[in-house]
Amino acid sequence: MKNITIVGGGLVGSLLAVLLAKRGHKVDVYERRDDPRTTKAWEGRSINLVVSHRGWEALRVAGLEEAVRGITVPVFARMTHDPEGKTSRQPYSIDNKANWSVSRGRLNNLLLDEAEKVPGVTLHFGYRCVDVDLDKAAGIFVRKGEEAKTVLADVILGCDGAFSAVRLKMQFGRMNYQQEYLEHDYKEIAFPAGPDSSSLMDPQCLHIWPRRYYMLMGLANGNGSFTGTLFMPHQALPEAPDAGFDKVRTEAQADAFLKKHFPDAYAIIPDMTAQYMRNPEGNLVMVRCSPWVHKDKAALLGDAAHAVVPFYGEGMNAGYEDCHVLGKMLDAHGDDNWGAVLQAYNEQRVANGHAIADLSVRNYTEMRDLVADPRFLLRKKIEGHLQAKHPDQWMPLYSLVKFTSMPYVDALREGQRHDRVMEQVLAMPGIAEKWESEEVERKALELLGKD
Ligand SMILES: Cc1cc2nc3c(=O)[nH]c(=O)nc-3n(C[C@H](O)[C@H](O)[C@H](O)COP(=O)(O)OP(=O)(O)OC[C@H]3O[C@@H](n4cnc5c(N)ncnc54)[C@H](O)[C@@H]3O)c2cc1C
Repeated sequence: MKNITIVGGGLVGSLLAVLLAKRGHKVDVYERRDDPRTTKAWEGRSINLVVSHRGWEALRVAGLEEAVRGITVPVFARMTHDPEGKTSRQPYSIDNKANWSVSRGRLNNLLLDEAEKVPGVTLHFGYRCVDVDLDKAAGIFVRKGEEAKTVLADVILGCDGAFSAVRLKMQFGRMNYQQEYLEHDYKEIAFPAGPDSSSLMDPQCLHIWPRRYYMLMGLANGNGSFTGTLFMPHQALPEAPDAGFDKVRTEAQADAFLKKHFPDAYAIIPDMTAQYMRNPEGNLVMVRCSPWVHKDKAALLGDAAHAVVPFYGEGMNAGYEDCHVLGKMLDAHGDDNWGAVLQAYNEQRVANGHAIADLSVRNYTEMRDLVADPRFLLRKKIEGHLQAKHPDQWMPLYSLVKFTSMPYVDALREGQRHDRVMEQVLAMPGIAEKWESEEVERKALELLGKD
């Protein structure tokens, strides 16, 4: 049994606390914010996330699958909305697999409730980590109106998000580190429920309004309402000089912009412009670093180790897989042997963290403009057909990432193979007419075999 400090009680820190305490460790979670269950921490900053396979695996091991399932809504398809409001539905998989939509705030609150129930977990709110002594696994925390306090532990785990204080200290050692802001910021736009909590859009779809340089998305909440997120450049790009949070500033500008570009959403959100004016913008930052561990004393999990752009919906899922893998390493090496555990964790996870970063950037392009591209839609149809006929030979990249535990590194490599094959398949004369033919099938599998 070890004394473990977790810095950060967000989505990853709260789950990790449950997993480690259930193994018999004494866990203290220090969270910078006040208790979000008793404050309006999420107001105007709500986002909905999708939980997918890797997330469910970790939640199952923690004994939390059922509780979390109860606050989620299954999402089986993307539904795109074109500038005229015309919709098109694209299932995520040919075998009816779903991602599960959940409000970030509700999930975090539920996990904090669950963590508090496990003997051995103590939650400390309002404590900001300002420094770490890595060799001693000591965290220094400040709380408004109190003297700074030093907390000594056997191990300190940084689950403190993209701007991690634990990571900052590790950067002073031999850490490789890269940080990049996406040009896009994001903002919450809530969609109301219809009469009697009915939904005004299909709740089992991720709704997307892709407009190449900006995009609106909506995910259902389970009570008829949706939580939407508007992604738009922080500063308008030359290619779309009117679309930027710096350009759409006044109420009149916002009203005209929203009405023009998202007419069907505008029609069902009576206060869309007021929300735009009221809700703050958030930044999207990408972080890659390595190593993620310091001797037998410290490690990073979740966004602290790998902040990625949110367009694969895998940031939290990858963080949950970090927790799951750490648990497996404890199984393999023993709960008292953190030197070996952390080394093995680092070896298994860092490359996968980099791969999900690459995959997320790739899906950013796909969601932003490709979902509205006929060539992309044709490719999806061909891939679905290949998967249906030859499931042992062709599983699309999206399914590998969202519906299996295949290491992200391998999924990325497989996706790159598919790209090379599909480039040649899409170049076949008359492909739009004969995409379901045996000729196309044969060619794709032959190319795949040779790649
Ligand atoms: C718009 C958007 C959509 C997304 N959609 C998805 C999705 O569909 N699926 C998915 O899997 N992921 C998604 N993500 C990513 C997901 O939100 C993150 O990957 C996830 O929140 C990471 O969890 P975390 O606990 O590592 O970090 P965080 O959620 O950032 O939590 C870190 C916690 O640490 C605390 N903290 C920070 N600094 C300190 C300090 N110095 N001392 C003490 N406490 C500290 C913070 O207050 C916070 O509570 C999305 C993100 C965005 C922005």
